[in-house]
Amino acid sequence: MNISHIEHIGIAVKDLEESIRFYEDVLGLKCYAIEEVSDQKVRTAFFRAGQTKVELLASTDPEGPIGKFIEKKGEGVHHMAFAVKGIDNALAQLDEKGIRLIDQKSRKGAEGLDIAFLHPKSTHGVLMELCEDKGSS
Ligand code: ZN
Repeated sequence: MNISHIEHIGIAVKDLEESIRFYEDVLGLKCYAIEEVSDQKVRTAFFRAGQTKVELLASTDPEGPIGKFIEKKGEGVHHMAFAVKGIDNALAQLDEKGIRLIDQKSRKGAEGLDIAFLHPKSTHGVLMELCEDKGSS
């Protein structure tokens, strides 16, 4: 596997606009994009902090993955994402090692990245995302 850096941290929030105000007014970061990912039933807001981004995730549907997460655990860190080169190779390697994959193959996520999730049962409790920006490489 070829991980270059932590691409982003995903944080589940109840109210996107209210959370954006905290990140902007208190932390002094700038929201540079808001995007709806309809198949994940979320609206996302992005901030840059150096090489790493913060991705706020607010559910558009209580039955969606973020809606269910917040109902069970409340707001908080939801996942972390590593930037990798060769995401489908990385997935094949993980599969060979017996790591449980949520996505067997990469799919399109926010910001046009190719993404795939690893199951937290196989990663010591962290929902991990791999992502690759094929446009930039
Ligand atoms: Zn993510």
